[in-house]
Amino acid sequence: MNIILFGPPAAGKGTQAKRLVDSRNMVQLSTGDMLRAAIASGSALGKRVEGVMQRGELVTDEIVIALIEERLPEAEAAGGAIFDGFPRTTAQAEALDAMLSARGARIDLVVRLRVNDEALTERIAGRFAESGRPDDNPESFKVRLAAYNAQTAPLLPYYEGQGKLVEVDGMGSIESVSSGIDKALSSPRG
Ligand code: AMP
Repeated sequence: MNIILFGPPAAGKGTQAKRLVDSRNMVQLSTGDMLRAAIASGSALGKRVEGVMQRGELVTDEIVIALIEERLPEAEAAGGAIFDGFPRTTAQAEALDAMLSARGARIDLVVRLRVNDEALTERIAGRFAESGRPDDNPESFKVRLAAYNAQTAPLLPYYEGQGKLVEVDGMGSIESVSSGIDKALSSPRG
């Protein structure tokens, strides 16, 4: 099973993806984590994306699509992937569909974590203090949220049109959001 965890920055996608890895043995494919690892390793790719990420802008489709493509065999071997922070643009969503279908696979479900803006701002105030991420500051966060609204939220109708979109309340505790996701994953879908 391949699922996408969808939602704005700080909606809890990473936290929930890690819980699914533990409970279902799936592989988490987080382009944000892959890019941060590239920066930490000092690679040419890391140097290329560092400034863009720090500002909160999106890196190019080409880069993230290649990162995901490289990891698909591993996810397939594990029995499925949780896409976290990918796709973020229509071009990425279309490329993902094409890459999966070339492997005889597909996205089964897109779980949208719904979080309201005030809650997001509150969460982020806490995270600025503790995450140590250079893009967790008020200025970059504003850019990240704007990128989500302009480039990523328009994917919702794409997946709704494919009949794959489910919404989960992302406002409660980590446990209650997890159980909402579990419910969504076990509901039969036409
Ligand atoms: P994240 O950890 O998912 O919040 O991603 C952190 C940053 O990495 C984003 O603000 C972007 O700069 C970059 N990034 C991660 N995933 C993508 C993606 N799918 N497309 C473009 N940029 C991405």
